[in-house]
Amino acid sequence: MDNDEPIFYDGKFRQKRKHGVWREVEAPVIEGPVADTHAHLQMLRDPALELARCAMHGVAFVETIVDPADDGFGAFEALPGWLMEASADLRAMIAAEGTGGGERRALPPLPAVRIAAGVHPHNAKDLTDDLVAALGERLRDRRVSAVGEIGLDYHYDLSPRPVQREAFRAQIRLAKAAGLPVVLHMREAHDDGFAILAEEGFPEAGTLLHCFNLDGAEVSRWVEAGCYIAFGGPLTFKRAEEVREAARIVPVNRLLTETDAPYMTPEPLRGTLCGPAHVVWTAAVLCEVLGADTPEARATLLAQLYANAEALLDRAPTPWQKEPSHA
Ligand SMILES: [Zn+2]
Ligand SMILES: [Zn+2]
Repeated sequence: MDNDEPIFYDGKFRQKRKHGVWREVEAPVIEGPVADTHAHLQMLRDPALELARCAMHGVAFVETIVDPADDGFGAFEALPGWLMEASADLRAMIAAEGTGGGERRALPPLPAVRIAAGVHPHNAKDLTDDLVAALGERLRDRRVSAVGEIGLDYHYDLSPRPVQREAFRAQIRLAKAAGLPVVLHMREAHDDGFAILAEEGFPEAGTLLHCFNLDGAEVSRWVEAGCYIAFGGPLTFKRAEEVREAARIVPVNRLLTETDAPYMTPEPLRGTLCGPAHVVWTAAVLCEVLGADTPEARATLLAQLYANAEALLDRAPTPWQKEPSHA
């Protein structure tokens, strides 16, 4: 990631050209609200600004990922402040728009933000019994709507594989006890990951396989097991025809859009930092891939994708979350 990238205090998308020149790119036309089901808000340089940008582009829902082994639970406390600051940023963005002599438009709404909390497989070695207990207690926070991202990453192997598998199991159990869905990170470990879920039982509240970047053969078993499949930047990459093929296999009521911001910036903005608002680029490509090529067809598809995200992640608190906490 290039942290020297300048911060522009507006809602525009820009491509990086040579010699430090940034060229504005017009946002894709989007006929409905879009959800980013996977963003790491606390890893962004200005989370509030990115939330204001979401409002500018019709991104109405963001699921932010909190890994207590990486950054503690600070994002839980920071979130209300980000949203307050975002509304000030948004007012400034709208005020800066030319009105052409007409009325200034109304403030678009900020996205609803919910939390997925879980220890990433990279950090599995840091999941102590104490941290399992602390995580379990945090799941009572009604803003939490999922446990994740959890799973297995055999590409980097930053934690020993048996330790990753144990951490994965422990957190599947937490999710099931809390009545929450899981957000899965699987990298070069899909066989083991699937086997563990089959053994533990897929959570009744749902399973989301995030950042899907493989082919139709891999996606099928997850779909058959009832999982939701989230597509992000990789869907838009030029040499990723197999990912687009996989998206066509997933039933439309199990498809989700995401970013994985600050990573996985979609085309045509690769090489720049990603924010949750970038999900509109992926949503536009998904419409194209699924053959929704009229405004009406796009509106219908986007409404379905948004409803999927809402049903899975903008869920009502579980009965367990409603009980008064003893902490
Ligand atoms: Zn991931
Ligand atoms: Zn992630």
